Amino acid sequence: VSELDTVAAREAELEAFRSAAHALVDGVADYLAALPSRPVWRPLPDELREKLLDLPLPEEGTSLDALAETALRDVLAYPMGNGHPAFFGWVNPPPSPAGVAASLAAAAMNPSVVSGDHADIHLERAVVRWLAELVDYPHRPGAGLLTSGASAATIVCLAGARSRALANAGYDLRRDGLAGAPRIVSYVPAEAHSCVPRALALLGLGSEAIREVPLADGRLDIPTLRASIAQDRGGGALPALLVGSAGTVNTGAIDPLDAFAHVAAEESLWFHVDGAYGAFGVLDPAISDRYRGMERADSLTLDPHKWLGVPVDAGCALVQRPDDLRDAFSLIPPYLRQGAGAEVGTFAEYGLEQTRPFRALKTWATIASRGRAGIAAQVARANELARELASLVESEAELELAALPETSIVAFRARPDGCPPESLDALNHALPQAVQARGRAFVTGTIFDRRETLRACILHPETRSEHLAILVEEVLAAARTLATAP
Ligand SMILES: *Cc1c(COP(=O)(O)O)cnc(C)c1O
Repeated sequence: VSELDTVAAREAELEAFRSAAHALVDGVADYLAALPSRPVWRPLPDELREKLLDLPLPEEGTSLDALAETALRDVLAYPMGNGHPAFFGWVNPPPSPAGVAASLAAAAMNPSVVSGDHADIHLERAVVRWLAELVDYPHRPGAGLLTSGASAATIVCLAGARSRALANAGYDLRRDGLAGAPRIVSYVPAEAHSCVPRALALLGLGSEAIREVPLADGRLDIPTLRASIAQDRGGGALPALLVGSAGTVNTGAIDPLDAFAHVAAEESLWFHVDGAYGAFGVLDPAISDRYRGMERADSLTLDPHKWLGVPVDAGCALVQRPDDLRDAFSLIPPYLRQGAGAEVGTFAEYGLEQTRPFRALKTWATIASRGRAGIAAQVARANELARELASLVESEAELELAALPETSIVAFRARPDGCPPESLDALNHALPQAVQARGRAFVTGTIFDRRETLRACILHPETRSEHLAILVEEVLAAARTLATAP
């Protein structure tokens, strides 16, 4: 093959890319435009599901045009539902259009965002600072990084907490592991997200070393918590970590973070705040006071792929002291770090990943396209809609509110006429799927207060009062059908 042939082949490949990608962008724009008029969710036809599962590995290549057509027809046509303004499931927003477009450019650049003098590196540093600024968290260069999500960010932060606690107690975790170290005890609220106990388990800090933080009606029982810490200390354990939530996943409740920060400071505990869903709520002036204390957290996790609508995946770990993460993750010993030429180390020195994707471009584009004011307005609007949904629920005799919404999550239950009290749990358990199958709204369930509970999470910038009304209508209709089913 001559050099000329190679050049010609490359030119042809890029021309094919240009035309197929143009068609794909048009198809994606049509898809986004059509979403609100489609069912929120619909199951795949059986033949298509089987076709996808059994796709044979192709021996020969396929043209990009054909691939774009297949993707639009067989894949994009059957989404999870979170592009629709009547989608209230889990914590999944639609993607920001800016983020979708930026994803193409990021893939074209395809860097490994670790170190060096390329634009992606510097952009991630700026974006991490922006995220800290958005939620009023102090920020020093190096004190955070983007991750695959809040679960990964939690592992990063709690690894920092573990490392610091043991170093302060005179143990060399890097050398000795946990062998011979005192038991590290963590204080975690019952409503904490499952990623917290999972991170602790992965870090070798078993569930027996987790104490429940005494919280009642949103108030921290400080004397009981401090007594529990004193008891652990007296027994030779090492109380090390206090976890709070800036928006729980079940009800969107904000823990009394100021009281948490106070106890953590008094007891020399690492204070970690899970802000994956709710930290951006601080941008709503109506509730920003509730977040006081978050700025004192030793570490804070955020999920730009939640309320901000950055296309998945984009999580973020923030810490007060960059070296806490570096001590936990860097393979470059401290005496060589300065010699390596940087006060701020490579991203690989602060987290789990070596080859790292370019998450910063879609995050930058999403934030920049709306600006701080645009994001604040969206957050405040979602919270307002949640209050509106809560009053709709309260005005229906066959529905009941499980908790007053503090942010944009509304937890409620159905109690349709004719349903005996002992069957209510089973009915509410079956309700989300029944609503989803009707195709007009999408809601998911949880267990809250030991009872089956629906939770509607409002994140879509285009959700309006009419969509709340549809949700209520659909829940009532599905509940009545379930109540009368044989
Ligand atoms: C989503 C969520 C997590 C986990 O984050 P992922 O991005 O799914 O890994 C943790 N905490 C809360 C409150 C969440 O809403």
